[in-house]
Amino acid sequence: MSDLDCIIVGQGLAGSTLALRLWSEGWKVLVVDREDPVTSSKIAAGLITPITGKNLTRSWRLEEALEAAASFYQTAEGLLGGQFWYPKPILRVFRDVAEVSDWQAKKTDPGYTPFLSRPEVSPERIGAWLNAGHGGFEMQGGGYVDVRVFIKSAQRFLKSNGLFQAGEVSCQDVKAATGGVLWNGVPAKYLIYCQGFQGAQNRFFDWVAFRSAKGEVLDIEMVGFSAKRIINSGGWVLPVGGNRFRTGSTYSWDPLDCKPTKGGRRRVEKNLRRLLSADYTVLDHQAAVRPIINASKALVGLHPKHDRVGFFNGLGSKGALYAPYFSAQLTAHLVEGAPLEEGLDIRKNF
Ligand SMILES: Cc1cc2nc3c(=O)[nH]c(=O)nc-3n(C[C@H](O)[C@H](O)[C@H](O)COP(=O)(O)OP(=O)(O)OC[C@H]3O[C@@H](n4cnc5c(N)ncnc54)[C@H](O)[C@@H]3O)c2cc1C
Repeated sequence: MSDLDCIIVGQGLAGSTLALRLWSEGWKVLVVDREDPVTSSKIAAGLITPITGKNLTRSWRLEEALEAAASFYQTAEGLLGGQFWYPKPILRVFRDVAEVSDWQAKKTDPGYTPFLSRPEVSPERIGAWLNAGHGGFEMQGGGYVDVRVFIKSAQRFLKSNGLFQAGEVSCQDVKAATGGVLWNGVPAKYLIYCQGFQGAQNRFFDWVAFRSAKGEVLDIEMVGFSAKRIINSGGWVLPVGGNRFRTGSTYSWDPLDCKPTKGGRRRVEKNLRRLLSADYTVLDHQAAVRPIINASKALVGLHPKHDRVGFFNGLGSKGALYAPYFSAQLTAHLVEGAPLEEGLDIRKNF
């Protein structure tokens, strides 16, 4: 039908990882993005944390997803130039005695030990700038992706190869046909929507139940402090160079917009003061919406009726970890017809 293999709508973490993977399979892609100044990918801290949450659980498919992420970002750094993947130790500070006692069985569990550089860190060894009376533990294998730099580098690469177009793809301009799609008269074999939380307005996929969540982050400066480790304890503090840190984040559901709020800042700062014993200055405050699909890690694949129209969404609060893993599955599905993992396949959730 055309020599364009795939139009990708949206260039956040989902669209960028998919575009680079399809391109390396020799597919001719065109990425179309609205270039919103603030998006989830543009403000994400990009943390990749092997053991997460209040219950200190292993992230889902941890080994496979971490391996896919590390290898994808390293290869992408080679292709795009520059650095955006920063492997770093993560210090998990216990919040209370309940967490300390929960940790006792886990710290020697073989599912956990490969991700521990220090299964126990005493309060005295944590550093005077942190309130860490219960101690903590240190993780390895994680770190953070500078997502903004990754997205910019991917866009520069796509533009220089004539594979990027700024603009909005409206569903009414997309015609699904046998053997392909037409977008504003431009033919392609496939069109895949990677729209983040705005996917909730997509008429092809209006049956997908989103439960997206707004999040707010602060950039701060702490004069006289620098840190090598990422700090995690309910909230997180990410050292981004010199005396600068990024910290967050909040969860709220109404309204779902990208406007920073006083309440959001108050909640981030409350957590920060609980964790820090140092003074800080706020340099910036941002908000965006994480795309979350109700009761699902993410959904990928092709529309149940229009088999050339696809979907890659629901990266939630772990897009940096999972975008490389899910985009690999979607690429194998499109290129080789490989089956998608049961829980991820959008057709099985219709
Ligand atoms: C405060 C906050 C902190 C976070 N921290 C982390 C973290 O530490 N670690 C982590 O892994 N994840 C984190 N996340 C989550 C992460 O940002 C998301 O999982 C991920 O970025 C989602 O990527 P996406 O590509 O699906 O969506 P988006 O980043 O929203 O990208 C979608 C793109 O599609 C474009 N678009 C939408 N509709 C159209 C259209 N019709 N036509 C053209 N373009 C369109 C948008 O402009 C946008 O560029 C955080 C999120 C927030 C909000």
